[in-house]
Amino acid sequence: MLERCLSPRRARQMQRLLRNGKLTLLCLFLTVIVLRANLGAGKFGTPEQDLNDIRETFSYIRRRAEPRRVLEEARQTFTATDNGASDTNSYADFDIKRIIADEDDGDEVVYKRDPNQPYSLGPKISNWDQQRAEWLKKNPNFRNFVAPNKPRVLLVTGSSPKPCENPVGDHYLLKSIKNKIDYCRLHGIEIFYNFALLDAEMSGFWAKLPLLRKLLLSHPEVEFIWWMDSDAMFTDMAFELPWERYKDHNFVMHGWNEMIYDQRNWIGLNTGSFLLRNCQWSLDILDTWAPMGPKGKIRDEAGELLTRELKDRPVFEADDQSAMVYILTTQREKWAEKVYLESAYYLHGYWGILVDRYEEMIENYHPGLGDHRWPLVTHFVGCKPCGKFGDYSVERCLKQMDRAHNFADNQILQMYGFTHKSLASRKVKRTRNETSNPLEVQDELGLLHPAFKAVKVSAS
Ligand code: UDP
Ligand code: MN
Repeated sequence: MLERCLSPRRARQMQRLLRNGKLTLLCLFLTVIVLRANLGAGKFGTPEQDLNDIRETFSYIRRRAEPRRVLEEARQTFTATDNGASDTNSYADFDIKRIIADEDDGDEVVYKRDPNQPYSLGPKISNWDQQRAEWLKKNPNFRNFVAPNKPRVLLVTGSSPKPCENPVGDHYLLKSIKNKIDYCRLHGIEIFYNFALLDAEMSGFWAKLPLLRKLLLSHPEVEFIWWMDSDAMFTDMAFELPWERYKDHNFVMHGWNEMIYDQRNWIGLNTGSFLLRNCQWSLDILDTWAPMGPKGKIRDEAGELLTRELKDRPVFEADDQSAMVYILTTQREKWAEKVYLESAYYLHGYWGILVDRYEEMIENYHPGLGDHRWPLVTHFVGCKPCGKFGDYSVERCLKQMDRAHNFADNQILQMYGFTHKSLASRKVKRTRNETSNPLEVQDELGLLHPAFKAVKVSAS
C-alpha cells in the first residue's frame, strides 16, 4: 500500500519509522509492567539501582529485537539508494557488474596499433642470450640452475580478468590453482597466476603469448617457463620432470612427431602444458607464433587457413595450438631441432582417456610414474569450466574435475594421515592414528620435505 503513494525510498523510511515506533511502544508497555511488578514486590531500592534495573530491561528488549530487525532488512529485495549504491546485504541479489569500473566487459578489442601494420609482441630483441648471460654473471645469487640437472622453473597459469560466466566456474579455478600450488611447493617451482589481459587483441587462448614474452624478459634468472592451462591439473604429485632429457631443447610439448610432421594433425601436440626455455630462440618462436592471434578479422581468416591446411581441424577461429602445428609443419627446418615432442609420460593428458581409470590406477600403481599408469597431468580440454558453454556435458566435466582434484589431493592429504572418503567425496577420513612421535611417521612418497631431496640431488 505505502509503496503506491510514496516513492520507494520514502516508503521504506516510513516502514522503518513505523517499525521503530512499534518497538518503542512495546518497550514502554513492558517498562510499566516491570515498574509495577517491582513496586508491588516492594523491590524499589536507591534511585540509582532503579535506574540500572530500567536500563537493563531496555537493553534486554533491544538485544532481543536486534537480530530480527537485521534479518528483516536482509530480506528486503534489492534496491538502490540515492547515490546509486546497492544497499542489499544479500550476495545472491547483488549484481557483480555494478562494481566493475570498465565500461565494456573486456571483450571489445581496442586497437593500439595501425591495423594495417603486422602485429608484433613488442620491440625486436635479437641479443637476448647475451643480455641474459651478462645479467646472470652480474647477479650470481640468482642462479638459473638450482642443482646440476634442476633448472629454475616458473610455472605460469592464469584466467580471464572477469568472474566466470557460470556460478561454479571460479570454484573450479580455485581447485585447479590449489592443485598447482601443491605440486610446485613439492618440486621447488615458483608460480605466477595471471589475471591481466596484457594485450587486448590477444584474448582467450592467445593471452599466454604476450605474458610469456613479458615474463621471460623480466626473469632472466628463470631457465624454463612452464605454461599450464587453468583447466589442467597435476594428478601425479611425485613425478619430477626428466630435465636432463631436455638439455638440448628449448620447447617441450606433449605430442608425437609422426602426427605432426607426417599427418599435420591439429591434435598432434597440445599447448595446454609446455616448457619454454628462456633464450633468444624462444623469443623468436613467440614472434613467429603471434601473428595469427589478433582478435577479429585476422584470427578469423587465419582460422580458415588452419582448417584447410591441418588434418581434422573443425571450423573455428585460429587457436594457438593449430598455429603451432602449422609453424612446425611449414617451417620444420627452422624450428624442429629444438622442439621436443614428449609422449613418454603425460606432460599433458587428455582427460577423456584417463578419468574413468583413476580407481584402477590406485588399485595397481603408485604416484611417480607420470604415464598412463599414473598420469602427471589431466587436462580438461574442451570443458570450459569458466565459460557459458563447453564441448562436453557439464555434469561429466565437473564430476570428473572433482575426481581428478581429489585423486591428486589424496596424494597431499596422505602425507598428513588423511584421504578423501572416495574420489567423489569432499569429506576426508584418517589413514593412520595420531602418534606422539610424529616425526617417525613414514613419508611414503618422500615428498613431505622436498628440500632434503633437493640437497640430496645437488650432492649427487
Ligand atoms: N586463459 C587466460 N586468459 C583468458 C582466457 C584463457 O589466461 O582470458 C587461459 C586459461 O588458462 C585457459 C587457457 O587460456 O585454460 C586456454 O583455454 P582453454 O583451456 O579454455 O582451451 P582448451 O584447453 O579447452 O582448448
Ligand atoms: Mn585447456
